[in-house]
Amino acid sequence: MVTKLNSYSLTDDIVIRMRQKIEETKQKKIELGFGLCHIKPADILKTGEECTGDQCSILPMTECPTGVYIGGFHTHPKGGTQPSIADLRNAYINDLECVGAANNDRIRCFVRIGTRKPEDEQNIKSLEEEVETSVTGIATIEQYNRWRKARDEIWNKHFQTVTVQ
Ligand SMILES: [Zn+2]
Repeated sequence: MVTKLNSYSLTDDIVIRMRQKIEETKQKKIELGFGLCHIKPADILKTGEECTGDQCSILPMTECPTGVYIGGFHTHPKGGTQPSIADLRNAYINDLECVGAANNDRIRCFVRIGTRKPEDEQNIKSLEEEVETSVTGIATIEQYNRWRKARDEIWNKHFQTVTVQ
């Protein structure tokens, strides 16, 4: 079965590799992932370079050996598939980001709605800085609520969420 992600198609091969990364994450307890590459003119995606830990969320992403980098997949060792603001920032700048959760085996992709706009991109980056990057250590309830409100606003406004079966 092929999962449609807006104009792209996620094949079973890629979903199998995502599930392998989730299993590996349970063993190693570390974030793992890989890039998703689009080779024109087909809508089919191929997997790109692999990443470990922080590499999976730092921009610019590693290049695709062939094709254009359109987003990535990464695992969450703890928590579910809910995205961080950094995840949504990457999904916005590229075209999408997929997340696999080690605690419930779910995979969800966050696909940008419409075209990339510089003002929206700047707004997401500012919010990330203000309510996510600035919080180090354990967040207070107020900080958490602020973060969650900002994250949900970005999520609802700019993304379509696709559950990968
Ligand atoms: Zn994430």
